[in-house]
Formats: sequence, C-alpha cells, structure tokens
Amino acid sequence: MMLGVYLENITLVLLVAAVTLLASNYLHLYRLTKWLWESRKMSPPSAPGVWEHVYEGIYYLQRRNRNKRKNLGVLVKRFREGSEALPDALVVVDKEAKIVWCNRHARIEMGLKWPDDSGRRIDNLIRHPKFIEYFHSGDYHYPIEIPAPNNPNKTFEYRIMAYGEDQLLLIIRDVSRVSQLEEMRKDFVANVSHELRTPLTVINGYLEVLTVSDEQNPFVNKAMNEMGTQTKRMQALIEDLLILSKIEGSAERIYENTIDMSAMLKQVETEADALNKGKKHKILFKVDEQLVIFGVETEMRSACSNLIFNAIHYTPAGGTIKVLWKKRAGGAYFAVIDNGHGIEDKHIRRLTERFYRVDKARSRKTGGSGLGLSIVKHVLNHHNSYLNIESKVGKGSEFSFILPPELIYENSVDS
Ligand code: ADP
Repeated sequence: MMLGVYLENITLVLLVAAVTLLASNYLHLYRLTKWLWESRKMSPPSAPGVWEHVYEGIYYLQRRNRNKRKNLGVLVKRFREGSEALPDALVVVDKEAKIVWCNRHARIEMGLKWPDDSGRRIDNLIRHPKFIEYFHSGDYHYPIEIPAPNNPNKTFEYRIMAYGEDQLLLIIRDVSRVSQLEEMRKDFVANVSHELRTPLTVINGYLEVLTVSDEQNPFVNKAMNEMGTQTKRMQALIEDLLILSKIEGSAERIYENTIDMSAMLKQVETEADALNKGKKHKILFKVDEQLVIFGVETEMRSACSNLIFNAIHYTPAGGTIKVLWKKRAGGAYFAVIDNGHGIEDKHIRRLTERFYRVDKARSRKTGGSGLGLSIVKHVLNHHNSYLNIESKVGKGSEFSFILPPELIYENSVDS
C-alpha cells in the first residue's frame, strides 16, 4: 500500500502483490501434492510460514499412522503364529460362506489351496449333508462329527463360532481315535450283552422247571426262588443294556415315521395297570388323542414307559400318578407327575447317568437296572429334546419333556 502511495499507483501495486501471493501459495500446494503422492521421502520439504505448520501436521499424522500399522502388523503376525501353532484346523468364513482365511492345518487336513481357495464357498468344499444342515442351521451350540472330506477313514469334529463382525470361525479337529474308542466301547457292551443273553435264558429256563415246591426242604425252595429272581434281574439289565446300545447307535431318521402317541400310551397304560396291582396307585392318563408326532416309536415307547414305571416303583402304595400328553407353548409336552418320595436336588443332576441310583437298596428291590433314565435321556436327545426333572422331597416328582414343534405331525383333513 505504502509502495503504491510512493509510486502513485496503488491498484497496480496491489494487483502485483496479490498475484505474487497467489503464485507462491500455488507453488507450495504443488510441492505438497508432489510430496504426498510422488515423493518416497517421509520428511517434508522445508517451507516458510503457515505452510511449515501444514507440512508438520501431515508429517505427524503420517508417523502416527505408520506406528499404528506397525503395531497392527505385529499383532496380526502374533495371531497367525498362534493359530498356526494350534493342533486344530481353522477356517474363517464371511457371511456369504466364502473363505476369508485358513491356517496351515486346514490346508493339510482339508486339502485347501491357499490363496487359490480364498473366496470359495465352504459349503462347496465340505459337501456332507450333515455339515450343510449344521452350517445353515445357525445353531452352533454343539459340534458335529462327520467323515473327513478327503479321507473317509478319518472322523472330523466341526465346531462353528461367531467371529468378528458377520464372520464365522470353523474349528476342525481330528477325532478319529476318540470315535474309534467310542465305537469299540459301544460294540463291546452290545456284544457282551448279546452273548450273555443266551446262557441266561438257558439258566432261567431250567430254574423255572426245577422250581417246584419241595415241602421237605425249605432252604432249597428259598434258594431256587432267589436264583430265579436274580436271573430275571440280570435278564432285565441285559435287555436294558441292549436297548441303550441300540438307541446310542441309532441312525434312524426321526422324520421318517409318525407315532400315534395316544395308541402307544394306551398299551403302556395296560402294562402299568398290571405293574400297579400290588401298589394300588390312582393312575390318571390325560392324553390329547389328536397329537401325533414324528419319531421312532420303539424308542419313544421305551422312554415313556420308563418314566411311568419309575413313578409306580418310587411312589409309596396308594399314591396318585398323572400322565399328561398335550400341545403346549414350545411343542408337544409329556409329563409324569407323582406324589412319591421325591428326590433331593443334589441327585437330580446325576439321575440320567448310567447306574446312578438315589437309594441303591430300594432300586434293587424294584428290580431296576439303573439304566432307565439313561435310556430316556438318549431317546430324547435323538428327538431333539431333553428330560426336565422337578422334585420335592416328601412331596413328589415331575419328569417331563417338550418335543420341538417341528416334530408335531399336523394331520390336516385334506392331506
Ligand atoms: P432304576 O432302574 O434304578 O429305576 P432309573 O435310571 O430309571 O434306574 O432311575 C434312577 C434313579 O432315579 C432311581 O434309582 C430312583 O432313585 C430315582 N427315580 C427315578 N424316578 C423316580 C421317581 N418318580 N421318584 C423318585 N425317584 C425316582
């Protein structure tokens, strides 16, 4: 301005000054862009005034980002090293089932090729129907076991967990040895039970023939009777062991057949009446006759009769037993309610274990094998349900289960 006054041309001088300032700022902007996009140097070029602050601000941000990236890189490396050291195969898939990442074990055990298989759908790779059903069910509370995709002699356990945002972590473990041992255990129990069946039938047959009342020798009488009772107990135990092995190894599909529960419960009622002769309980059956379900009839019959017969055995004579079968929120509800001895809380959790009894002496007297509730548990597990036990000592017990609504057979008139 002063120069303008001095040269007597303010406008021209102001114009020249403005153009110079603009040109200098454009020059710095150009240098900044060049530094940001083309230069490999981290440190910024020197600049005067306000531009120095701009450069330093950007330089500071860049350094902070670089350090963060470095730390992140260390974390990712540590995670990868950790997951490579795991004995399990790991695969991460996104919400469209596409493979995002897998560890070395997954490449070895599952035959995954990396990075070629990145982005491939996992359900195209593991095509076993049980896996497909499990993967798309969204219910990952329990793992599944199926043969390995590239080696049918191996058994893999698949477990899925939610991972990050919209991702799933698939953990695959080789359980061939465990499942082999489990198979051997099941086979052994089934074979031993089967082999014991014939000699016991023979012994029992002879005992029945020989058990004729001998007035002269009461000791022989007593011994023969006791032997008869004990062989019958052994036979019942073996029958229960065989039923349990059969249910455990059952591959029968529950959706293939329907069960007319009302008809089945009528047969069980006749058997219960026979068993009830000495006890004289009041047994009430409240059964919804329309309520038909999908399932395996022999198994369901075994479960229901075990619960009903237990109520008869463990309720003192003259008690009241209610058997309910009806539709309820959440599915089809079956319950056996008695006003018997009841069970202490500490036992309830263990009742479905094999051979677990609250009172061994009492159970032996009833002729129970100690396998009844184990059978019930396996049957219900096979039918996607579980046993619910509520009991109060001295008041009575309720043994119940709810079969999921998908198992209810909707018998429409025109179908
Ligand atoms: P068991 O062959 O001995 O009856 P279970 O597996 O059927 O074997 O039952 C296990 C135990 O649970 C029984 O020994 C008994 O102590 C207890 N129990 C089962 N049902 C009842 C019931 N309704 N009331 C009281 N106790 C029961």
